[in-house]
Amino acid sequence: MYCSLHVPHLPLPPSQRWLLATDLQQEVYRHLALYVPRIFCLGPSRGSSREEQREEQREELACQLLLLAPLEWLLLGEDPASGLALLQEKNLPSPLCGHVFKVGEPTYSCRECAADPTCVLCMQCFLGSVHKEHRYRMTTSGGGGFCDCGDAEAWKKGPYCSKHTPTESSMHSQEDPVAQLPADMVARSYSIFSIILKYAVDMLTWEQEGQLPEGLAPPEKEDTFYCMLFNDEVHTYEQVIYTLQKAVNCSQKEAVSFATTVDRDGRKSVRYGDFQFCEQAKSVIVRNTSRQSKPLRVQVMHSSVVAHQCFALKALCWLGQVIQYSDGLRRILCQVGLQRGPEGENSSLVDQLMLNDSKMWKGARNIYHQLLMNSLLMDLKYKKIFAIQFAKNYERLQCDYVRDDHDREFSITDLSVQIFTVPSLARMLMVEENLMTTIIRTFVDHLRHRDLQGRFQFDRYTAQQAFKFGRVQSLIGDLKYVLISRPSEWSDQLRVKFLEGLDAFLELLKCMQGMDPVVRQVGQHIEMEPEWEAAFTLQMKLTHIISMIQEWCSTDEHVLIEAYRKCLSALSHCHSSLPDGEQPISLSLAGHHVETFRYQVSQDKVSIHLPVCRLLAGLHVLLSRTEVASRFPEQLPLGELSPPLLIELPLRCLVLCAQVHAGMWRRNGFSLINQIYYYHNVKCRVEMFDKDIIMLQAGASMMDPNHFLMIVLSRFELFHIFSSADCRKRYREANKDVVQQNNTLIEEMLHLIIMVVSERYVSGVGQVEPFDEVRREIIHQLSIRPMAHSELVKALPENGNKETGLERVIDTVASFKKPGVTGRGLYELRPDWNKHFNLYFHHYSRADQSKAEEAQRKLRRQNGEDTALPPPLPPSLCPLFGSLVNLLQCDVLLAVEGAVLQWAVEPSGGCWTESMLQRVLHLVGMALLEEQQQLENSSGADDVTFNYICKITRPGEAPSTSGSVLALLESLQNAPHLEVHKDMITWILKMVANIKTMRERTTSTSTVTISQGQGPEETVRDKDKAERKRKAEMARLRREKIMAQMSEMQKHFINENKELFQQSLEELEASTSAAAETSPPSLEDTCLSQVCVGPRRVCGAERRQLVTCILCQEEQEVRGQGKAMVLAAFVQRSTVLSKNRQRSLPEPERHDPLLMHPDMSMGIHTASCGHIMHATCWQRYFEAVQLKEQRRQQRLRGHTSYDVENGEFLCPLCECLSNTVIPLLPHTHSPNPRYTHFTIAVHTHLNTDSHTPKSYVDLSEGRIMSDVPVSLSNPFSSSINEMITTFSMSTYKVGLKVNPNEQDQRVPVLIWSSCAYTIQSIGIHTHTPEKYSVYSLDQSGRSGVDSAHLHLLYLVTVAHLVQILLTSTTEEVCMDQDSGASEEEELTCKLYNTLRKHLGGVLPEVSSGWQLFHCVKVGILPFLRAAALFFHYLNSTVPPADLLVAGPGQWEALCSYLSLPSSLLQIYQSHHTLLEPLIHRWCCHPGVRQTLQGGGVIVRFPRVSNRLIELPEDYSVLINQASSFTCPRSGGDKSRAPTLCLVCGSMLCSQSYCCQTEVDGEDVGACTAHTFTCGAGLGLFLRVRESQVLFVAGKTKGCFYPPPYLDDYGETDQGLKRGNPLHLCLERYRKIERLWRQHGVAEVIGHAQEANQTLVAIDWQHL
Ligand SMILES: [Zn+2]
Ligand SMILES: [Zn+2]
Ligand SMILES: [Zn+2]
Ligand SMILES: [Zn+2]
Ligand SMILES: [Zn+2]
Ligand SMILES: [Zn+2]
Ligand SMILES: [Zn+2]
Repeated sequence: MYCSLHVPHLPLPPSQRWLLATDLQQEVYRHLALYVPRIFCLGPSRGSSREEQREEQREELACQLLLLAPLEWLLLGEDPASGLALLQEKNLPSPLCGHVFKVGEPTYSCRECAADPTCVLCMQCFLGSVHKEHRYRMTTSGGGGFCDCGDAEAWKKGPYCSKHTPTESSMHSQEDPVAQLPADMVARSYSIFSIILKYAVDMLTWEQEGQLPEGLAPPEKEDTFYCMLFNDEVHTYEQVIYTLQKAVNCSQKEAVSFATTVDRDGRKSVRYGDFQFCEQAKSVIVRNTSRQSKPLRVQVMHSSVVAHQCFALKALCWLGQVIQYSDGLRRILCQVGLQRGPEGENSSLVDQLMLNDSKMWKGARNIYHQLLMNSLLMDLKYKKIFAIQFAKNYERLQCDYVRDDHDREFSITDLSVQIFTVPSLARMLMVEENLMTTIIRTFVDHLRHRDLQGRFQFDRYTAQQAFKFGRVQSLIGDLKYVLISRPSEWSDQLRVKFLEGLDAFLELLKCMQGMDPVVRQVGQHIEMEPEWEAAFTLQMKLTHIISMIQEWCSTDEHVLIEAYRKCLSALSHCHSSLPDGEQPISLSLAGHHVETFRYQVSQDKVSIHLPVCRLLAGLHVLLSRTEVASRFPEQLPLGELSPPLLIELPLRCLVLCAQVHAGMWRRNGFSLINQIYYYHNVKCRVEMFDKDIIMLQAGASMMDPNHFLMIVLSRFELFHIFSSADCRKRYREANKDVVQQNNTLIEEMLHLIIMVVSERYVSGVGQVEPFDEVRREIIHQLSIRPMAHSELVKALPENGNKETGLERVIDTVASFKKPGVTGRGLYELRPDWNKHFNLYFHHYSRADQSKAEEAQRKLRRQNGEDTALPPPLPPSLCPLFGSLVNLLQCDVLLAVEGAVLQWAVEPSGGCWTESMLQRVLHLVGMALLEEQQQLENSSGADDVTFNYICKITRPGEAPSTSGSVLALLESLQNAPHLEVHKDMITWILKMVANIKTMRERTTSTSTVTISQGQGPEETVRDKDKAERKRKAEMARLRREKIMAQMSEMQKHFINENKELFQQSLEELEASTSAAAETSPPSLEDTCLSQVCVGPRRVCGAERRQLVTCILCQEEQEVRGQGKAMVLAAFVQRSTVLSKNRQRSLPEPERHDPLLMHPDMSMGIHTASCGHIMHATCWQRYFEAVQLKEQRRQQRLRGHTSYDVENGEFLCPLCECLSNTVIPLLPHTHSPNPRYTHFTIAVHTHLNTDSHTPKSYVDLSEGRIMSDVPVSLSNPFSSSINEMITTFSMSTYKVGLKVNPNEQDQRVPVLIWSSCAYTIQSIGIHTHTPEKYSVYSLDQSGRSGVDSAHLHLLYLVTVAHLVQILLTSTTEEVCMDQDSGASEEEELTCKLYNTLRKHLGGVLPEVSSGWQLFHCVKVGILPFLRAAALFFHYLNSTVPPADLLVAGPGQWEALCSYLSLPSSLLQIYQSHHTLLEPLIHRWCCHPGVRQTLQGGGVIVRFPRVSNRLIELPEDYSVLINQASSFTCPRSGGDKSRAPTLCLVCGSMLCSQSYCCQTEVDGEDVGACTAHTFTCGAGLGLFLRVRESQVLFVAGKTKGCFYPPPYLDDYGETDQGLKRGNPLHLCLERYRKIERLWRQHGVAEVIGHAQEANQTLVAIDWQHL
């Protein structure tokens, strides 16, 4: 390469001089001061990439030769090339891979073995690891971060891949790698590294714009400056581009390039010149961008400063490269970097870099971060020292980061993930640097806004504070890293520091306890929706932390006890404000009395945020689970607990939810609804709703159950209803709304009681394992309906490791059903798990509950069972919660049950509800189950304390003075208004009977196992079953009848209710194939002698054709002189058959469409959905569509899925995208003049004669034809003619992309061109006509026209034969020449040799006639098929049976059908003299010789049909491929949205400014631009990062389509969010391919846009 830089002659190589120098730094600096400004940044930087690239290359070379090479010499003491190689050879590499990820590179994590989800492998390491066979997760890297292969702490198993497995020797040599280096080299390295690193640090942190550090000042200072523009995250691309154009007077294109670089590197010089000149630009930029926000940062810097900063970056890169050769050098660099300077604390070079991080520009940060990763983080010893430094500076770095506006990936704080996730480091930092406390304190410090009680107050945040809050959340991420793996061993110090951290954490939680309180709004609606999101964001972010802290506590008894104490005291602190001095109220019911607060949720403040209570609930469960409570009761402050106080706040919160459900808080707006939603949502509930239930359980188990229930009644504000009988009556007469509210509240309260007693699937509450909890969740999800894997994952809470535990249990409870070509795989609950179904499962929403109930009842009916849904058998409670069951049999609950049952005696009328009754029955059932279980597990009935039966047989007390609960149940059993509950009541009564017998038996003998449903009930059951079956059958018949009526009616109403009619693609296909069925003729009247062309043609039967108009539903006969009938049709340009995608599209004005180029690079395709309309009906319809569109455009500048201005519309029946109509022509005998014109034109063309021949020799019969017969009589009515014109004009307009022009000679030709292309596209993909309905287009008379047709067919056939032979690729095979060559073979040889004679040596010599003939036969078959298809439709001749089946007889059948001799060469033979001159002329065409000599793409026959590109089986191969793809326009930059063209395999840089191109005066993205060269405006792409197929058509239309990649659960992963390994599903890919080949893509887009209006608004052209 030419290097323009003058290399000065030096007296001594610098390295030699340096060796002798006394002050090396001074010498090196002098060298740099001299050369750096002469190498870097010489002159203006332009936006144009060519010049810039050359300049860059020049800099690179000079830098290497003049600056770096001397350093290398000095370092190694010899030629760098050999020195470095030697170094590497001797090096014992560390087992760490340390590969730093590029943006978009695939990373792999093992879900079984990774210590946490941040542990990842690069593709290379992954493929060589054991995890390949495990359950792994695949993601794309956001850049930064490195491969953890070789880090033993990162993996529970298999930490090394095959490449990084430590060798024997390296395992044993634990010595210092520095010791392996020669001593003099060590000394030199120290001094060089410290000089260069210091230089780089000084330059990067240098803040003076016109001065340089001491020793670097250039010999002479020139007045050359740069105007440097810096990146910020405030201004948009457009703003920057606009400003730049204004400020530095550059073109739009240059401005775009500047802006792109600023965005990528963080800064870019936009002007070069003297100081004044640059200052001027600066002031314009500042002025223009300071209006809305703080201005863009601009600096005018001296060129030498910029040059040294450039070299500083190069020097850092160089250091990073050099240390790759030797672990010894790496360690030396680490040492140099971390060595304290004379200033003491925080004075090492690395400290200086870190502390100045937020002041540096993006590019500089990236480079030094990368160096840190390559050096400090790769050396285990120095990683530790660095970690300590990092932790010491933690608070300051975070503050810098929060103030800065760059994304976190560009901040030094992002390295926390590399340090804190190493458990040993994290633990060390916790102990030595008190890291946990530091992080939490730093976080809390940033949230200063508090209310009077010290709680966070997010609603007062300004925009800037909100932004800060967004950034400061990353600290919670750091805390998560520190806590993610819990300790297996505790040291005393760790305990102390953890508990200290917990103190800080409790301080944080205290600030959250009670935040965002709400007060019920009465009278008027709230004026402004209060801010609620910030508080929930915080709660959501902390959810995993809270869970992790509990996990830590669970591993150490001492810590758990202390944590419990601390949490309790924090809670007491929160409670101190609770009883505000007022007199408590006392309640009495059913003979019990209790005192409680005077408080009403509906009137006082209430908050959803109670993290302190909830943490205590979590710890309480741990006391139970770890049995600490029973083993060390004396150490626990259990005596200090006040159960009524514990339950108070959670109960208020639950009551709030109930009241919201009951509609009492309607005036508080959506913010409250949202809060309630998230409170129950899977993302929050574990540490919110679930813990509140647990707290109630804990409280209830420590209280008298009657007292508990009375407090619950009181908080629900229902106490009065159950305490006096007439109160209810009063209410009944009162306001209807109030009655309804109270009904809902009663339902909610009963539900709460059910949950408190029956939710036992938390380990510690019930005797279960975590395994059981997940399984129960899954059972209940699948009870609603079968679900896909991803749906289930979404319904389950994730832990900090992003695991749900689903995989461990799913196969035991569900069976997997694989997906078909559409849809996804589903899990279905195994029937034996149905008995675990609990209708009142606490995580069901009301909607889920009713769906599940319906599904379960249906299932039971199908199995012929009764429809009772009794409570399932619950697991046993843990001892600490054991007394919970007493709630079921306490007097207050019995009173409530009695009251509800009493109300239910009379039909509702609004005073009670079915749900209420259902819940009471459920509670009764739970009690009975409990009693039964206790009886079964006991030795005698006497020690069973639970005696529910006894209590319900007692007559009721006040207020319900009627009979006992049991008596009430018995009386309700046959109540006609309770039919739905009958099965459940029956179940209850049966249980009662069972238990009674049990009690009797156990008192007399030992335990007897009781089974349900025996004896006389059996027969009743069978009868029931039979009856149900009969009813079901009746219902089915009725349904079928209705269905039949429906479909009849649908046909007629489809048009009136068009918008309701969303026909799916599948249905569409069905309907069109049904339409196609009418076109192939029946087989009955076929015989072998059918001929479709020429004088011997057999005419199709003259049959009447009746069709129905889809618009007016009238029947109509198709007649030449009748009303025109048309088919909706879509004409589009197509390159599907193209054999040459390089060829540019034809010029519209000059293109001659008569003959298609054999490479078929562009054609016009016509398709129809087959729906028939009157032409007049269609016209009216189309006018209406136009009118509607005009009106719509006035309202909102119209976006529709179809472009009315271009004549597009949707088929009124199937909504298929259409842009023209095809007229239906009848089967008649009259000739069509248009086709005759076409005949003449083709004939002329093949004769390469410019005149229309007056006469020619008919090839088929050998007689001379005089004038071509042109019939002038027009056989069609004017309306049909009009439609013919419409259709031909569409093909003209779309095909040539021109404006309509009826005068153009090419108009009629284009119809035939489209016809030919469409037939070929059908013929090439299938063997039988499938979806095409050009009905008979022409019926010519038997006269000369027929002969002309046949003549033409012969002529074209011969031409094609020549074409095939010219392009045949017969290789000379040494085979025994069969002496007895057939006549055909000889003739083929003869023709071939004639061609050789004309063309000379261009054609190879071929002696095997057999091979040639084989070529011809195979090559011409598609043509014969297409011809047969064409004449079949043209002449309505029924094809012979042989034609319809593929097989050996095809050839003969085709030839005979087409009236050709079965030995085609005969044509040539018998008209030898006539054809010879023609052939001569064809061969002598200059293009033929040129092409054959390699001057173009040779198309060979038969043309192989095009396929979409091959895709790899494993999706990560694609990701990897895309990650190394760079934007073709911006010099080696990574593309943000690499997109693969599925048609040609090009990778494109989509959705980005850099690759926009102008097409027809409009800037479009790379994909759209590509479609115009590759697909005539239509494209199919795979967006690799998104795992999404993209269809685009034209500039405005597009849609996304499911990718052909599926995970093991049969699901796609659009957006690559889940990260399950993806594999190619060939069937789905073939489906996409089929869509493309059948020209169905535009239609899919239309349907997608019609169904989803948001797709219309996307700027597809920018992709
Ligand atoms: Zn690796
Ligand atoms: Zn590896
Ligand atoms: Zn693994
Ligand atoms: Zn009609
Ligand atoms: Zn249709
Ligand atoms: Zn392409
Ligand atoms: Zn690009």
